[in-house]
Order: sequence, then structure tokens, then C-alpha cells
Amino acid sequence: MDYVKRCDPEVGHGLELEMARQKRNLELIASENIISPAVMLAMATVPANKYAEGYPNRRYYGGCENVDQIETIAIERAKELFGAEHACVQPHSGAQANMAVYQAFLKPGDTVMGLNLDHGGHLTHGSPVNQSGKLYHFVPYSVNDQGVLDYDEIRKIAKECQPKMIVAGASAYPRKIRFDLFADIAKEVGAFLFVDMAHIAGLVAAGLHQNPVPYADVVSTTTHKTLRGPRGGLILCKEEYGKKIDKAIFPGTQGGPLEHIIAAKAVCFGEALKPEFKEYQAQILKNAKALSEALLEEGFSLVSGGTDNHLMLVNLSGMALTGKEMQNRLDEVYITVNKNAVPNDPQNPNVTSGIRIGTPAVTTRGLKEEEMKEIAALIKMAAVDFENSADEIRRRVTDICCRYPIYE
Ligand code: PLP
Repeated sequence: MDYVKRCDPEVGHGLELEMARQKRNLELIASENIISPAVMLAMATVPANKYAEGYPNRRYYGGCENVDQIETIAIERAKELFGAEHACVQPHSGAQANMAVYQAFLKPGDTVMGLNLDHGGHLTHGSPVNQSGKLYHFVPYSVNDQGVLDYDEIRKIAKECQPKMIVAGASAYPRKIRFDLFADIAKEVGAFLFVDMAHIAGLVAAGLHQNPVPYADVVSTTTHKTLRGPRGGLILCKEEYGKKIDKAIFPGTQGGPLEHIIAAKAVCFGEALKPEFKEYQAQILKNAKALSEALLEEGFSLVSGGTDNHLMLVNLSGMALTGKEMQNRLDEVYITVNKNAVPNDPQNPNVTSGIRIGTPAVTTRGLKEEEMKEIAALIKMAAVDFENSADEIRRRVTDICCRYPIYE
């Protein structure tokens, strides 16, 4: 960073400010994490210079012998980590991975089922503002009044609409997902099962959530959430679909792979294969449980009444507060969350009635159950008496962040 600052003071200054923000703030955005120095440094390496269209040992460019090796390590580690027959490590992001999966298995206009965006789904699961919703005929399914997936209802919708594909997976769903039940439903109606495990990939890798790989035809994930790698995507599938998936990424939807990011993915998968990673994921779950219980004790309402993964959704509608206001207040006191729609939210998506909170990043930082209780108390202070308590919250957050520093 110092080197960048010397070469380009303007950009260097921005980077320095962002480093200071990340050190100062409690990061509770459920989809974010704090990568290791090895993952970070791998991204700033010379494969960034290299064109390598194609796949290992079948490239369209010369000089690929070394990136071939790096990409092969990433592929083999990804397969080992998730027990998959085939892995494509080239998707630039989760959204790219998902569009490639659709391109591989569907024709425009085909019927697909996906979780409603307002109920925890992702934009790429059929939102009308996303290419997925424009190209394919998405039929949404929802969570029930208790905020949980109702598999009988999903089966009923599937029988009615006879989808070509069912998408399982979510961006804001605090409960475990039964991929075995999704597989049964998909089989009954003759649909492909596509699981997007972006949020929970780290838990899956650690054996703390049902692994979708044995149940689904194809699985996508991001590598930067619970998995704690570089920003990017990954697709896993059975060998029989491997060629189709690879083709849908390149040349179907992407050009040259980002081999420096693939190097960082390989480092991330290597870290995730170590025993410490299991302990880390187990602590994410303990922290999420502790934080959700403490928030309930402070009087907050949680969608589905709690969590059994890394995130929780706080419904603020009973507190005369919107998600946007709460996100802004917490920003001011160095706690970072994101506003999030709750099921059947009357507010528009830029305002919302809820916030989403996750524990992956603060767990990386070293926080444990005791600090979760304190964070719940600080969030309560911000919700009920912001004016009078902002200084105290900032002081206490600073104290926690100093006790658990990052990138020292
Ligand atoms: N799928 C799910 C379930 C997600 O939550 C996200 C991102 O939040 C994505 C896909 C998209 O990933 P990316 O931002 O890397 O495109």
C-alpha cells in the first residue's frame, strides 16, 4: 500500500482510508469477510499480466505452463474441499457463475423456480431487474409466515409450473436449507437442481451445513463470503456436465480468466482444507447464535425467530425505524450492516424494514460470544437512544476493535 501511495498518492490515499475504516469498524455485513495476508498478496502477483483463455493444457495463448499449474491446484483443491467431480474456478463473480449455469442448462423462456428476492433470494435468482429474470420465466417461491421454507408448498408450485430448473440457495435466509428435499422435488418434476451456496460455502466446507454437491446437478458459490477467499465465483458439478459448464464460462460468458485471482482462490481452498478452518466456522455459528439470542433479549424481532447459520435478519418494523435509518445510524458509530427487506416488506428496496447481520468477519477478527452480547447491547442503544448514546457506542466499538486488531 505504501508503494502504491508513493507511485499514485491519490489512489494510495483512498486505499489508506479504506484500511483505516476496516480496522476501526465492526464488520457485520453477512456476505463480507477479512481475507488472510496470503490470499491478499496472491492477488497482487504476476499472473495479473497473463492472458490464458481456455483451460489448463488447452489454452489459446502461449506461455501458460505456470498458470496451468496454479489453476490445476485450485481445481483439485476445490474438488477435494466439496467432494465434487468437476470444478470450474474461472467465474469472475457469483453473478457470472450463475448466468453461466443458466446458459449451460436453459434456453431463453424456460421456466425456472427461485426464492423470491424479498424473501431472501438473490437478484440472479430471477429478479425482473436482472438478466436472469429477463431471459427466463422465473416462478418465485417464498418463505412461510414463520419465515422458513415450506417444502410442501415448493413441491406444489413445482408440480403446477413444471420448471426446467429449480434454484435453491439464498442471500438472506437464516436457517439451514434441506438440499435433499429440494433434490426429491426436482426429481419428482424432472427438473435440474441448481444450488447457489454462495453464503454458506464455508459452513459446507467445514461440514457444518448439508453439502449440496451430492444432491444437485450443479452448484455455484462465491469465494469471498464465509469461504474467506478473494472476490470471485466457483462452479461445481458432476463430470457429465463439466464440459458444458466450462464452455458456458469460456467462451460462453467470459473472456480471459483472472489467473492472479485464481491463485488466491487456490490459497483460500488450501486454508479451508486445514483443521483450523473448521474451528473458525464452528465459532461463526456460535457467535451467530449468541448474537441472535442477545438481540432477542434486547427486544428485537428476528425473522424466523433466530438463526442456525451465520446470519440473522432483524425486523425493525415494530420499532418505528427503517432498515436505511438503522444502517445509517450504525455507520455513524462504526458498526457496518446492510439494510435488507424482510418477508412481505411494505418499504421499497432502498429503504426496507430490516437489517441483515452476519458474524463471519467479526469471527475472523477473533470476537467470541461475550463480545456478541456487547454488540447486541450497542445495537439496542443505537435503535432507542441514538442521540445520547452515539459517543459511548463509538468508544466501546473502538475498544473492541483495538483488542482485536486486523492486518497489524
Ligand atoms: N448468489 C448469492 C446467493 C449471493 O448472495 C450473491 C452475492 O451477494 C451472489 C450470488 C452474487 O455474487 P457476486 O456479488 O460475486 O456477483
